[in-house]
Amino acid sequence: MTWNLITSLKKSVEKYPNRNVISFAGKDITYSELNKQVDCVAFNLAANGINKGDKVALILGNCPEFVISYYGILRAGAVVIPINPIYTKDEISYILSNSEAKAVIANFELEAIIDSLKMECKQIEILYYVGSNKAEFNWEQLIEFRLKDYEYPLITEEDLAVILYTSGTTGKPKGAMLSHRNMASNAESIVKLVEFQKEDRILAVLPMFHIFCLSVCINAPIMSGANIVIAQKFIPNEIIHTIFNEKVSLFVGVPTMYSFLFQLKDYTAEHFKTIRACLSGGAPLPDELIQRFEEKYQVTILEGFGCTETAPATAFNPINGKRKRGSVGINIPNVYNMIVDPNGDELPRGEVGELIVKGPNVMLGYLGMPEATSFAIKNGWFHTGDLAKMDEDGYIFIVDRMKDLIIVGGYNVYPREVEEVLYQHPAVVEAAVIGITDPVFGEQVKAFVVCNDESVSAAELIQFCSVKLAKYKAPRAIEIISELPKNSTGKILRRAIRESVEMHAK
Ligand code: ATP
Repeated sequence: MTWNLITSLKKSVEKYPNRNVISFAGKDITYSELNKQVDCVAFNLAANGINKGDKVALILGNCPEFVISYYGILRAGAVVIPINPIYTKDEISYILSNSEAKAVIANFELEAIIDSLKMECKQIEILYYVGSNKAEFNWEQLIEFRLKDYEYPLITEEDLAVILYTSGTTGKPKGAMLSHRNMASNAESIVKLVEFQKEDRILAVLPMFHIFCLSVCINAPIMSGANIVIAQKFIPNEIIHTIFNEKVSLFVGVPTMYSFLFQLKDYTAEHFKTIRACLSGGAPLPDELIQRFEEKYQVTILEGFGCTETAPATAFNPINGKRKRGSVGINIPNVYNMIVDPNGDELPRGEVGELIVKGPNVMLGYLGMPEATSFAIKNGWFHTGDLAKMDEDGYIFIVDRMKDLIIVGGYNVYPREVEEVLYQHPAVVEAAVIGITDPVFGEQVKAFVVCNDESVSAAELIQFCSVKLAKYKAPRAIEIISELPKNSTGKILRRAIRESVEMHAK
């Protein structure tokens, strides 16, 4: 068994040359067309001095050019550094320098920012801008067909494929180094668990620069000869139209997306009739939301768990087989999840401890950070930093992030448990719970919520929680706000809320 993203692409091209692989803005691209453009990108990068192992930054939103460039860079034996196109100059500069990217393929709107970084990032030799004909090197040149004698580099499964910078919800971004083996093994597991078919149409609305989209909405469909339907942005009502008009069969999203889609008034199960499954991951999916969403749209949401460092999935609820609501599922093929105590010893089933993971999906390490790497990976086991428990059937239940644990007078409070209760209130759309300093108890529970009903008061919500939760767990304070801070994938950032509370306290 070898895991290699380029071999997977070539297999699908051979089997399904005339099937569509990408649909975007009314246009389709077939597997053989994709293959041709990928080969051209690889050739043109190589002709401009990009060799095996060189780093190429990819700073694009969701578009066909992203997919073509991604495979083109890999075909040249180079390493893809996906970067969020809405990052600031400083954020982009940090990643370009840290990764030592030699080339950049970016949206033309970033031309001014990237040109201004040439002094700081002297290692950059070549820049391609997508969407502009004026640039020194543009997209047309990158896909220009001028194949002469060029031997594509041999790629092995141990070769580095992608370096993904963690979004930094817990500190400075770290470059997780993922090999072909990491990425392709994970995509293969997703294909098996979700039973991807060549007839599937997968909506890629998650950002392509994120591991969730790369694996589930790009690598897995391409491995199965399926069709990726690209959406540039998550605009809830437009997404429902896309699902309906494009006959999407698999919707892949994060919990906030499900929440927004659920809130829409004018749509019914009819709009989801082509969907055979919805997949969720990246953040906790509130139980209340699953129930309401599934009832309204008559679909099943399969929840999984993953991290950038594990490329990403480690556990998933299978499409055929037992799904347990509230659980992130069972081990994906070839991957082991274990719940351990602080000494690293396995805990009995049902007990809460840290979730650690071993398998072909575990990253090679953090780029240039040996200490952070040995802290995260011990004896081949990646430490997720999440608290979880496993039941007798091997189903995993995520309790919370270790760092978010609140300690009230010596008692542990898991923010997620309080958030789940808040979500049971019909007016609560989003909730985030943090610990605030308390002179007597050390910490107290505070909730920030977004409501869909102006008549609901904080006092009413506090009362609602106090009958459902033990006294120390129930929020002492609740603030109703218009929006919660989120990262690029839509994950609610408890850390940002904590920081803003601390700033106001000063
Ligand atoms: P950091 O930068 O601190 O590593 P991140 O949020 O940027 O954090 P990601 O790799 O994007 O890192 O996300 C991984 C984390 O997302 C997990 O460690 C876990 O906390 C959370 N997560 C992923 N899936 C789920 C899920 N189904 N339920 C609960 N939490 C989840």
